[in-house]
Amino acid sequence: MAPESQIAFVAIATIVGLVTGSFLNVCIYRIPRDVSIVFPRSFCVECGKQISWYDNVPLLSYALLHGRCRFCRKPIELRYPIVELMTAVVFIAIAIRYGWSVAALKWAVFEATLIVLFWTDLEERILPDELTLGGFAAGLIFAAFVPVYGAFGDLFFPGMGSIGRSFLNAGVAVIFLAGLIWLMAILYARVRRREGLGFGDVKLLALLAVFLGLEKGIAAVLIGAVAGSVIGGGYILLAHKKASTYELPFGSFLCAGAAIVPLLSS
Ligand SMILES: [Zn+2]
Repeated sequence: MAPESQIAFVAIATIVGLVTGSFLNVCIYRIPRDVSIVFPRSFCVECGKQISWYDNVPLLSYALLHGRCRFCRKPIELRYPIVELMTAVVFIAIAIRYGWSVAALKWAVFEATLIVLFWTDLEERILPDELTLGGFAAGLIFAAFVPVYGAFGDLFFPGMGSIGRSFLNAGVAVIFLAGLIWLMAILYARVRRREGLGFGDVKLLALLAVFLGLEKGIAAVLIGAVAGSVIGGGYILLAHKKASTYELPFGSFLCAGAAIVPLLSS
């Protein structure tokens, strides 16, 4: 790509990322509360007043309004600009790594889904089915166009067509990763006599598996588990939470781990 068109490409990714991030904020608030993501139009969660388009420009409006609602002056959650910025940064990284391709679209959908799940689990401890199962369905469709990597298919079915191998690799990953966490959830519930991992985590793992395949899926789980232990453990210590009763947002850590993988590998 010529330098000018590369700059234009990154600029487009930035704008699409900011606008998408703004939409993801709507999803983060509304999906766990079972409110439609299309209707009503954006409103202040404090006073309920409808937000005009000029108060809804990603990043800019937050800065111009000094982080407060125009009507009730209550603070707007910092999550709004963070998600907008986060989405833009991730979309730029995808654009640079994957260019103008179906793979770029696949990873953009994956990252956007993970961003919403990260926040719903962090804020509400909810991993909504619309996102885990909906994302899983999207991942299955993408598996037909962007091959899911896996040594299993290459090793045992080298003669199989690339689409067949892609679905095979995705299937193996789902059975192994989602199955393993399911088993862990059952064992954990037996040992600790309470639910530590929910069925939402199992569905999240299925989503990660169908997009990433087994090897990268394992990498995502490892990154998430290490980050979760260090950050979560640190938080429990510093905030003086009770380790035996505090429910860590394990799903958020898994999402963060999974989000990193496609940006580092291809
Ligand atoms: Zn307000």
